[in-house]
Amino acid sequence: MKYLIIGNSIAGVSAAKVIRRQDKNGDITIITKEAYPFYSKCLLPYYLRNEVAFDETILADENFYKENNISLIKGRAATKIIADKNKVVLDNSEEILYDKLLIAAGASPVQIGEGPNIFSLRSFEDVEKIKAAALIPPNPPLLKGGWGDYKKVVVVGAGPMGMKIAYGLKGLGCNVTVLEAGKQVFTRILSKRAAFILTKHLMNKAIEIRTGCRFISYDGKQVQIKGASPIEADFVVMAIGVKPNINFLKESGIKINAGVIVDSYMRTNIDNIYAAGDAAEAFDPVTKRYTINATWPSAVLEGETAGYNMAGIETQIKGNVSSNSIQFFGLSFVSAGLLESDELPIEEEIIDEDIPKNLFKRLVFLHDRLIGFEFLGDVQNTGIYLDILKEQKDISQIKNRLSYLDFDYGKVLKFTGTEERFFL
Ligand SMILES: Cc1cc2nc3c(=O)[nH]c(=O)nc-3n(C[C@H](O)[C@H](O)[C@H](O)COP(=O)(O)OP(=O)(O)OC[C@H]3O[C@@H](n4cnc5c(N)ncnc54)[C@H](O)[C@@H]3O)c2cc1C
Repeated sequence: MKYLIIGNSIAGVSAAKVIRRQDKNGDITIITKEAYPFYSKCLLPYYLRNEVAFDETILADENFYKENNISLIKGRAATKIIADKNKVVLDNSEEILYDKLLIAAGASPVQIGEGPNIFSLRSFEDVEKIKAAALIPPNPPLLKGGWGDYKKVVVVGAGPMGMKIAYGLKGLGCNVTVLEAGKQVFTRILSKRAAFILTKHLMNKAIEIRTGCRFISYDGKQVQIKGASPIEADFVVMAIGVKPNINFLKESGIKINAGVIVDSYMRTNIDNIYAAGDAAEAFDPVTKRYTINATWPSAVLEGETAGYNMAGIETQIKGNVSSNSIQFFGLSFVSAGLLESDELPIEEEIIDEDIPKNLFKRLVFLHDRLIGFEFLGDVQNTGIYLDILKEQKDISQIKNRLSYLDFDYGKVLKFTGTEERFFL
């Protein structure tokens, strides 16, 4: 069996590992347009900040591919899929045949405006460009601190990506302003209340956050903002979202919406072609909709599920909910599911908070099901809540016991009788 995987990141590699476990002799090839082995994109902001070294971001070195007998084609992009001939064409016109194909091509940042000093962050190359811009000496040279001290940077977008980039740049000593068109930071992954607490914390760390500010353009010197005075910036980093890498699928016959449409087996409309990760639109058990959960844990789950099915072990995806876990300047938060939404009414919420201590815990319910939660400050036990969210079971009996800041897992277990009843 010839397995071909487009994408050498978490979705593709997760699939390859599962395939190798199930099929010791199959022929596995992974293609990546990047020049590197598999690395952690989640660590890039910390690499930007010089908190982790290049080597620490590498998740699978050359040995991994050797030991698992996987051929890795680096620095080559797939440009076309000819599905009726089971063939992928590369950017050097080479053609590769497959029996089973996985599209795990991920996503790219959405960019408004172009110019030498407008960046985004998705890869190592991107980090190097941003670092260079942050550290190039100013003219005339100044005497104080590191070069980064003198750079004024505008980050556009206050979602997880924008805020992590801001955190990274602050670590280089830059003067960072974050612009957000919406009313709060982390719009999709935190409620207004939690966002308020976090913003206060970040402002204390000298990251300026301007909400309700829409970026219009950047001319290399000034950022124009809708309805407000321009601000000076040495460079701009865009973090306004990502779009799946699916352009090369045009004319392939593979059905696409925002991403590649897959069923619960991660199979596309074409029998031997699968998709996973940021490129795929998969079923979310909370919203009961097909959506792109562009997070690392989702890419693992989707990649593994695709891998099983490609290797002939029929497996449906389970518990593919969106979740985020972030730590900034000593304050952690974890959130998952729906927190404020027009899609589903929020029937009931339970909040427990201790604001002076930066502690906040909120659970959101619909028809006695947990549909979302957010914890700020103390993020212990979130795994339990994530399990409950994934299960989507009636939890009316234990609902109130889940809410307290001093939550005791033992009490819930005692009440429910057995662990299996709720958590398996
Ligand atoms: C800076 C940063 C920080 C992040 N932090 C977090 C976090 O803290 N928590 C979290 O859950 N998520 C985080 N994410 C998101 C997470 O990294 C992604 O959800 C995850 O990487 C998606 O994995 P993927 O395998 O689908 O795609 P990607 O990681 O995007 O990888 C896509 C792969 O496809 C290859 N490729 C693309 N097009 C082609 C082509 N045409 N031909 C050949 N190869 C191709 C690329 O070279 C790459 O190997 C972060 C992302 C970034 C960029």
